Amino acid sequence: RTVYVNGDYLPETEAKISIFDRAFLMADGVYEVTSVLGGKLIDFDGHLARLERSLNELDMKKPAAFDDLLEIHRELVRVNEIEDGLVYLQVTRGSDGDRDFVFPDPETTEPTLVLFTQSKPGLANSPQAGKGLKIISIDDLRWGRRDIKTVQLLYPSMGKMMAKKAGCDDAWMIEDGHVTEGTSNNAYIVKGNKIITRQLSNDILHGITRAAVLRFAREAQMEVEERPFTIDEAKAADEGFITSASAFVMPVVEIDGQTLGDGAPGPVARRLREIYLDESLKTAV
Ligand code: PLP
Repeated sequence: RTVYVNGDYLPETEAKISIFDRAFLMADGVYEVTSVLGGKLIDFDGHLARLERSLNELDMKKPAAFDDLLEIHRELVRVNEIEDGLVYLQVTRGSDGDRDFVFPDPETTEPTLVLFTQSKPGLANSPQAGKGLKIISIDDLRWGRRDIKTVQLLYPSMGKMMAKKAGCDDAWMIEDGHVTEGTSNNAYIVKGNKIITRQLSNDILHGITRAAVLRFAREAQMEVEERPFTIDEAKAADEGFITSASAFVMPVVEIDGQTLGDGAPGPVARRLREIYLDESLKTAV
């Protein structure tokens, strides 16, 4: 695989980052994951806009002009012959060659920019979409700036492990009795044709797929309510689903052992998945 590090395209075995890089020592970095379908990037503008926001919130420098970032994405997709898959991009604050809590001087410290691809043949035809996900609920023990897409992913990883140990697929996180989001996705329930999902705030990541799916839902005259919902409300819902750049729209069929509806992926989730895949391919670059 060819990867990109700070201006160079390299075989992955030759890519190097300093051990003092602040992402390695302090999780001082942000990232984006953009999916690739048919060799094209899905929702690319949205991912770059969120990257810019994450960088601004953390006073981090832009690593490159955004036109250049598009070119790097395209070049990696081309050289690695990615038909379906993902492009991962990470920007870190870099390092001044030492470990210190205080940020290094931005005048003399360059950010680190890394990109790589992951091939996922048949990404849009995942058999999981036909079965739906089994979810457990766990406490949300993350920090308070979940709107910034940082590489600080230990708790979400632990959540996925808890789900796996319970024989489930993923976890929804709960704060004050209400669902915030999934470990790596936004969470939704459907009650009587109404789509309910938590409103944007610092409590959740502002999903790029979420924004597109809610827009498509409204355009299709579906009713959307943006508010917190409780885990009990979720267990009593007609259906559930999640969204993310790599899962698109994925139905949820079970929460903490409680079956939703008839236990099969619901009609709203299935329809939104179809609409999202159709519509987002039209604007793919
Ligand atoms: N919420 C969290 C915590 C995430 O990590 C992600 C994606 O990685 C999402 C939501 C979904 O965001 P997007 O649709 O932009 O992939």
